[in-house]
Amino acid sequence: MTDQPTSFTSNQQAFRAAEAAMPGGVNSPVRAFGSVGLTPPSIVSARGAYLTDVEGNEYVDLVGSWGPMLLGHQHPAVVEAVHAAVDRGLSFGASTPDETHLAELVKSILPIDRIRFVSTGTEATMTALRIARGATGRDLIVKFAGGYHGHSDGLLASAGSGVATQSLPGSAGVTAAVAAQTLVVPFNDRQALEEVFADYPEQIAAVITEAVPANMGIVAPEPGFMGFLREITQRHGAKLIWDEVLTGFRATPTGGWGLTGQPEGWTPDLWTFGKVIGGGMPVAAVAGNAEIMSLLSPLGPVYQAGTLSGNPVAMAAGIATLSNADEQVYQQVAHASRQIQQLVSEALDAEGVDHSLQVAGTIFSVAFGTSDHGVRNYHDAQNQEVFRFAPFFRSLLEQGIYIAPSVFEDWFVSAAHDQQAIDRIAEALPAAAKAAAAATE
Ligand SMILES: *Cc1c(COP(=O)(O)O)cnc(C)c1O
Repeated sequence: MTDQPTSFTSNQQAFRAAEAAMPGGVNSPVRAFGSVGLTPPSIVSARGAYLTDVEGNEYVDLVGSWGPMLLGHQHPAVVEAVHAAVDRGLSFGASTPDETHLAELVKSILPIDRIRFVSTGTEATMTALRIARGATGRDLIVKFAGGYHGHSDGLLASAGSGVATQSLPGSAGVTAAVAAQTLVVPFNDRQALEEVFADYPEQIAAVITEAVPANMGIVAPEPGFMGFLREITQRHGAKLIWDEVLTGFRATPTGGWGLTGQPEGWTPDLWTFGKVIGGGMPVAAVAGNAEIMSLLSPLGPVYQAGTLSGNPVAMAAGIATLSNADEQVYQQVAHASRQIQQLVSEALDAEGVDHSLQVAGTIFSVAFGTSDHGVRNYHDAQNQEVFRFAPFFRSLLEQGIYIAPSVFEDWFVSAAHDQQAIDRIAEALPAAAKAAAAATE
């Protein structure tokens, strides 16, 4: 079915070679399957809702490249647009019509005036922080524990002991001085935010939040909490940075904003996008109103640049993806996602596995042993029955169902997840639920 562009014939062999060539065998840590204790399959191709590895095994893909593949793999319109772009040239390092077209598409979906394209979500959030600091002349940033915004130094800070104390480097190589400029507070905790603003008057440039926290599993904001963030930042002259890298154009047609800001009638100051906006190509962006975005060079004093930013092939994939993500696509994804959620819950219930489904529009995650109060913050996420996940995951993978290899990651459904794919998931879940039930700490 696929020509396999490799001499590897087994996943073991492929991963051993990978480990000899790249740190941990990967180019992004979670791909190493560390928390589930398996050799990751080496993927050679994907189509629709399915992945194929070097051994020819086929999997129902519930990772979707960590979100981008909203339409499914190899959507004909996206493939055609990318091929056409390739035929015109790979990169010009110059202004192109398609950059404007993608910008206009985003403007037609969300209330933004100006957008700057970059290549990764990490760059987008890093730039958003710089704009917020440039706009306010302040140094400090507030983020939430368990919130992920890419791997720039200032966003790899973790909470120190005690609320609103200075933070610790979240990685070796991050200096204490940089980490100290990021204040980490618990999500869904209004009091902690009031305190941090009181403790650092006129020093906080921005609060950065995921539009729905989705990198510790999904954590739903308590009713009114996101509106409170809008209000408290405004009250203190700080910017609200709204990270839609994961949720944008996926959780709902208008992303995570569609669940809170849009119905409540408010907008953040800066938005960041990634993942779906590039449809599988390296595209991300930072956006906002004309005033704040005019702080960016060449108009303003905040410097930012990128050799491959707005790359024409990547723009073509983004345009084709967003313009094909119509109402019907979102309804299909929502329908398939609800069906899969229900199947997961039924299977776990049948085996008496205590769990909660954590849902953000069409994205969801499963937390074990949390049914009494769900997951409200990072503390709850960490204190779930994590040990049930690895056996659950291994059983699914053995049966050809590929979910993200960590309990702190989400399930991503695409418009290509048809009844046949869902039936395969349904067949695999009972044994996986049994494995989760039998797991011991
Ligand atoms: C994935 C992600 C990022 C980082 O994007 P990269 O393209 O991996 O650098 C930033 N923020 C959120 C919310 C994400 O999920």
